[in-house]
Amino acid sequence: MPRVRSVLLLTVGLAAVPACTAPAPPSTDPRVAALVASISEERLEALLERLVSFDTRHTASNPDPAGRGIGAARQWIFDELARASPRLLVSFDTYQVAAQGERILHDVVLRNVAAVLPGRSPRRIYVSGHYDSIARLVDPPPSAGPPGGAGIHWNVPDSPAPGANDDGSGTVLTMELARAFAQSGIEFEATLVFIAFAGEEEGLFGAHLHAEKAWAEGAVIDAVFNNDVVGGAAGGTGAPNTDTVRVFAEGPEDSPSRQLARHIRKEAARYVPDHQVVLIARYDRFLRGGDHIAFNERGFPAIRVTEAHENYARQHRVEDTLDGVSFRYLAQNARVNAAGVATLALAPPAPRVTSETGAPTLGRGESGYDAQLRWVASPGAVSYRVYSRPAWSLDWDETVDAGNVTEHVRPNVSIDDFIFGVSAVGPGGHESLVSAYVNPARRPTTVRTVQ
Ligand SMILES: [Zn+2]
Repeated sequence: MPRVRSVLLLTVGLAAVPACTAPAPPSTDPRVAALVASISEERLEALLERLVSFDTRHTASNPDPAGRGIGAARQWIFDELARASPRLLVSFDTYQVAAQGERILHDVVLRNVAAVLPGRSPRRIYVSGHYDSIARLVDPPPSAGPPGGAGIHWNVPDSPAPGANDDGSGTVLTMELARAFAQSGIEFEATLVFIAFAGEEEGLFGAHLHAEKAWAEGAVIDAVFNNDVVGGAAGGTGAPNTDTVRVFAEGPEDSPSRQLARHIRKEAARYVPDHQVVLIARYDRFLRGGDHIAFNERGFPAIRVTEAHENYARQHRVEDTLDGVSFRYLAQNARVNAAGVATLALAPPAPRVTSETGAPTLGRGESGYDAQLRWVASPGAVSYRVYSRPAWSLDWDETVDAGNVTEHVRPNVSIDDFIFGVSAVGPGGHESLVSAYVNPARRPTTVRTVQ
């Protein structure tokens, strides 16, 4: 996590960033601490037991039977969210999806389930999981016709698919956070969207459709906390999941998603100090994907939270059952989310560090050798914090309170050798994501030759 230093940073071969007197990190907000403490392990267990009881939540399963399949499951999620608090605006986010090849075998009505907790501002922060499940069958059932020869016939909509960990865990985490946030009595600055997506297992269908709609509507989305496979008791090697969780964030180094990841680690250390957040500088696990990618692809900051050690023998199989979930571990991961979401939802928006034309407002000052940072004031901010680190580094190294200003100058510091960023701090001490000054991408050069 970023360190607040009061001594000179000595870096061989580089001009050091001058030390400034920086205050101690703000103490915890008792309202956020109470919210985090209200996350209930027992409630998560009760929710997941019920969710798994629908036997399958395959997106193309028969939606009509009472008590079985995706139709009954999504109606139960809707009713539970509505029952949790009258402050939650619960709706189905519905799409007609046509049959497409091996992925969607027949036309389906796809419904995400969303619960909105309105804030003072329409800018949104999402918490998500996918409620659909899938179980690959090694041998095709007789009803599937002649074996396809592939050895795995997985797209069998109505065979059992408990999906306890993938992603029942992320779904009930999202539901429990919706309840805790709505019942907290806190008035948040940002509008919170708690959403359970469908169609993830077929290719992120529900998330893509929702993100596309949000993008077309011009929605401002400050963050997406996507939780997928967050409750496993142990990995396939037997390594236990106890006190560590991973957060995956797409690059480049100073993408908004990376700032979101850094924010989660910082706030988790403050509010859930006995649980460690490990940041992974990748958009997802190797050759894997998840619903946050649908938001990343449309330019929204979005990260994936996943357990420390996965058990591939249970994923996408009928073995993904309740006994593979640790509710103590799942509750800790829910608390990490709660700390990151609540603090961000209480903060002002991140400052803009670009000009109207998109150029970074970082220069060398009048001397030509200083670091001169300028930014556009954020509504509701009472002060700003300046971050810096050597240019070959992933973690912010220095933090300085700049006060209620829109310019900060570091004399005789090279803007080539350090990365700089600025965050906005609200009256309650809550801090936005850091806006980093990013060098524009190089344009490819075209050389025309004479024939
Ligand atoms: Zn999943």
